[in-house]
Amino acid sequence: MPDLLIHDCDILRNEGDRAWVDLHQDIWVDGVRIKDIQPASSMPSPGNLRIVEAGGRLAIPGLMNTHAHVPMTLFRGLAEDVSVEAWFNDYIWPVESNLTPEDVYWGALLGMAEMIEAGVTCVADHYFAMDQVAQAAADAGMRALLAWAVFAHEGEAKLEQTCKFVQRWQGKADGRITAWLGPHAPYTTTPDFLRLCARRAQELGVGIHTHVSETAEQVRLSLEQYGVTPVRMLLDTGILERPAILAHCAYPSDADLEILHGKRAGVAHAPKTYLKLGSGIPDLRRYLNAGIPVGLATDGAASSNTLDILEQLRMMVLSQKNLAGDSTVMPVAKALGIAFQGSAQVLQMGSDLGEVTPGRLADITLIRQDGAHVFPRINPAANLIYSSRAADVDTVICNGQVLLENGQLLTIDKAQVKREVSRRLARLSQRVPGNRIAIYPA
Ligand SMILES: [Zn+2]
Repeated sequence: MPDLLIHDCDILRNEGDRAWVDLHQDIWVDGVRIKDIQPASSMPSPGNLRIVEAGGRLAIPGLMNTHAHVPMTLFRGLAEDVSVEAWFNDYIWPVESNLTPEDVYWGALLGMAEMIEAGVTCVADHYFAMDQVAQAAADAGMRALLAWAVFAHEGEAKLEQTCKFVQRWQGKADGRITAWLGPHAPYTTTPDFLRLCARRAQELGVGIHTHVSETAEQVRLSLEQYGVTPVRMLLDTGILERPAILAHCAYPSDADLEILHGKRAGVAHAPKTYLKLGSGIPDLRRYLNAGIPVGLATDGAASSNTLDILEQLRMMVLSQKNLAGDSTVMPVAKALGIAFQGSAQVLQMGSDLGEVTPGRLADITLIRQDGAHVFPRINPAANLIYSSRAADVDTVICNGQVLLENGQLLTIDKAQVKREVSRRLARLSQRVPGNRIAIYPA
């Protein structure tokens, strides 16, 4: 017997070049999955059923954030209008040396409150003290793919700690948590360290989430130091034999794209960060033509200021059109294909997420469509991309559980989270001379 009925919603669908809406539908949820979808009120509803009244709401797949550093909400607004090098060396890596595990928990919960309010049900997070992020995801009810970031200078013992994290949390929280390894990036590790990460990932049967080719300068330094591109280094060290999330990968050569073709690797694309850093927007047609999945990401709130995927979706479309100098590039259906199916593929959950259809996991976001800014509803799909706001998110369901209803968080006490974060701020934002967790090369 189903557990949950989402009554009388409109369902957004996209396939290839087409996007459309099925009006007045009932979505039946059984446990963690969508069991059935039928025209509204066409089937009698049994007793003991949790009913979400969704008249006039647009049901979309729960939004996915394929690369973030969720606890960095703690540093939102701390380092503005500075170079990438200064951003790391003078701000972020010094203040991150102040973090305690408990700080990470509250920063993660703040980020999850923000994401749930913005309709995001799943995040691939890459950070430190990941037990706390996993606990926050367990408490918040979100789905999370978690990787503990590790640098080569932290050594093999630290990598082993991150392997233990994988074993502690794999499949926990009713299956919502997936744990991978997270070597920080080729430029903060070594080929030997990456080889070790690949071997341990294989032994554990898990994937790898890493940053790669974020800027043209990183590619230049890699060629100078090792004679190969960062993507080629991932190939040579065995990383690409594992499922992989490649954060940014904004400067691949044609040969890099050939390397990635056919691998279980996807690119996490975070246009707001690229625009803000002035680091350049990659042409996504190159990846899609090479058959490489692309998904949407926010990166951390210290660079992108929000964890809002609708905002990234809009920026992706606008920046691709602008880059191409062509208004026909990145049409509505293709953009939805990246936000939904593309992101699900990058997360290696292409058959479980990314569509509101029977058999998929019940990760569903309901969006209000009664605002003046989305009226008239001539093209609800275009409205979603060009007009809707995170504040229009009304109800969020993840793994069959309601996390937000009528705009109200059900699993997180936001006032408490803000209090906990506030009382940590003065200590956290101190930059102690000489204290930093790593050094950005320049
Ligand atoms: Zn990142």
